[in-house]
Amino acid sequence: MEIKEIKTVQLNVPSSGSSQTPARRPSWAADAEVANPMSKYPQYKRHRSSWMPNWGVVYVKVTAEDGTWGLGQTSFGRPVAAIIDDHFAPMLVGESCFAVEKISDMMFRMSKPYGSLGLTACAMSGVDLAIWDLIGKIKDQPVYELLGGAVRDKLFAYATGNDTDWQIELGFEAVKLACPYGPTDGLWGLQENEKLVDQTRQLVGDNVEIMLDCYMAFDVEYTIRLAERLRPYKLKWIEEFLIPEDMDGHVQVRRALDWVSLASGEHLYTRWPFKQMIEKRCLDILQPDVFWVGGITECVKICHLAEAAGLTVIFHGGGLHQYGLHLSAAMPNTPWVEYFVGSPPGVPLSETRQIEGETIPEQSWIKPNSGPGFGLHIEEEWLTPFWD
Ligand SMILES: [Mg+2]
Repeated sequence: MEIKEIKTVQLNVPSSGSSQTPARRPSWAADAEVANPMSKYPQYKRHRSSWMPNWGVVYVKVTAEDGTWGLGQTSFGRPVAAIIDDHFAPMLVGESCFAVEKISDMMFRMSKPYGSLGLTACAMSGVDLAIWDLIGKIKDQPVYELLGGAVRDKLFAYATGNDTDWQIELGFEAVKLACPYGPTDGLWGLQENEKLVDQTRQLVGDNVEIMLDCYMAFDVEYTIRLAERLRPYKLKWIEEFLIPEDMDGHVQVRRALDWVSLASGEHLYTRWPFKQMIEKRCLDILQPDVFWVGGITECVKICHLAEAAGLTVIFHGGGLHQYGLHLSAAMPNTPWVEYFVGSPPGVPLSETRQIEGETIPEQSWIKPNSGPGFGLHIEEEWLTPFWD
């Protein structure tokens, strides 16, 4: 069956009209300071929203010649939509909609003149996810079956965010903190970071795992100093401490810190930098993002590379959507998923999801749905052209 059309779209889900439970307080995500790569510039330090682009979600609709359609998703708005609509779409119409490897390879190769990483890999992801959804709908099977069948019927979900008390109330048994301060905050920042981890350990006790996400904010020296300071609190892992391009820095941190697990990868694109990270044994846990790295097809390759090296993959944000859940259910080395909790404490997680077919964690465990494709109930009339 051939691909008849590929185009970017917006998704407008009608409001359910049901009232929402009042929040007890605003979410941590609204105002909490999070150390980041721009923290060194005082005018942009306070909040990441002060320097992030206003590029929103891009949905991709791929339609087969019989009219069946699949929906993919990615980030970073207009530049990504332009790569898809101006370049990838006209080249891929007429290809077999089952040829996921060929289409993935074509997108990677045809983007060589302007680069295949970053925004291009996001564009690749949107198209690839739509094709997997389309194949599932044509074959009337969930994507985890297309990937070889479920390895596990439920996935352990950890919570990300700094409303730890609420996450514990929701039943999560592992929590990840966003680290507030970095090198420009000096000794005071080190003390404050330790205080946050100390208070969190006191709050959750010894039977809940704690992780620390550093969002590319540190250098080698700061990473080692902070990690040594936090050693008594038995972190499960330290995440994304350096900018992703600093391969030698990762090697240096690994040599210095052989007693704590190191995780990263949400800002690595395609399997190629993952291959290098694996070969250099820099990381224990790889965290590709299925919306950004190149889609399901690329993630499967990363999982297999990691498996051959005895490493674990935990997809960035992988518990928050069916794309990551179907993938994580089917891969051999993906036992955990990340569930970002950015909604305000007091509002049940079920009220934060809009689309029928989305699933939520219960007591730290979550399942993918079993519908065809990614199993989401989306009406075709909810899709409108992206470029309006
Ligand atoms: Mg992260």
